Amino acid sequence: MNEERNERGSTSWADRFDLDRPLPAEADVVVIGGGVAGCSAAYQLSKRGKKVVLVEMRGICSGASGRNGGMTGGGTMVPTQVGRAVFELNTENLRLIQEELPAELGEDFSLRLEGSLDIAMTDEQWDHLVATHGSASKAGGDVELLDREQLADIVPVVSERVLGAKLSRRGGHLWPFALVHAMANGARRNGALVFPWTPAQEVLTSNGRVTGVRTSAGTIATGAVVVATNAWTPKILHDLPAGAVVPARGQILVHSVQWSYWKLQICLTSQ
Ligand SMILES: Cc1cc2nc3c(=O)[nH]c(=O)nc-3n(C[C@H](O)[C@H](O)[C@H](O)COP(=O)(O)OP(=O)(O)OC[C@H]3O[C@@H](n4cnc5c(N)ncnc54)[C@H](O)[C@@H]3O)c2cc1C
Repeated sequence: MNEERNERGSTSWADRFDLDRPLPAEADVVVIGGGVAGCSAAYQLSKRGKKVVLVEMRGICSGASGRNGGMTGGGTMVPTQVGRAVFELNTENLRLIQEELPAELGEDFSLRLEGSLDIAMTDEQWDHLVATHGSASKAGGDVELLDREQLADIVPVVSERVLGAKLSRRGGHLWPFALVHAMANGARRNGALVFPWTPAQEVLTSNGRVTGVRTSAGTIATGAVVVATNAWTPKILHDLPAGAVVPARGQILVHSVQWSYWKLQICLTSQ
């Protein structure tokens, strides 16, 4: 997404969504942020009859949602109560992406569940794979630990430096732009309005209750706001405690070949 186009008037038709309409004066819910979280919230709320307005400061899917590997599956299970809860959420999420959303949105998001590999290059990473393999197996996950030789049978070009891998047989990937845009378009079909290139500047409150959202294009009165701004959240919610949202650096290289894509993902995540 080219951020130089961050002017409401100069955006191409494909990214305009509802920019040709005036910003409404009120809404049941204002969603701030047009990534996977915001577009999903807008879609689900509008499906349930809410009058929704989504504002996004750049293009739809221009944050982390448009810069990731689209890897999906049961997810890694960290053997804690929170880890198990996240694993269950991921499993339900996969069911929705596989079964419900394609039928509802008329789009399969190029979902391909052909298996995925988490590789270990250090003893510490291998120990982590062993631990998460154990807990995922107990939870019924279709996972397998592979030593280097077993891995080389699947990926003959694997580096000598790789110690082994965890194979998630139900893992795979999808095309994030297709998913996020399908949800934004689905929300619009349900009556939601979507305004890219429209930063939210302030969540307005009175007597401890939300009353509206001030944006670069005007103010929308509302009693409910979904803040789906990811790493930018402290800029909108000033009273968040320090450290409540901690940005983590990630890097990815995606090489596209027609509609399928092969990808190398290097995630450097500070834990
Ligand atoms: C390199 C990398 C690889 C990843 N790989 C995977 C993967 O393979 N599988 C996976 O499931 N996850 C992956 N993730 C994580 C995933 O991308 C994120 O968890 C997800 O996209 C977060 O979605 P979001 O909607 O919360 O945030 P975002 O997509 O970042 O959306 C937030 C939006 O809010 C907008 N915004 C911010 N402030 C304002 C404002 N004031 N007004 C209006 N709009 C505003 C931003 O412009 C942005 O579009 C990866 C992440 C990275 C960085």
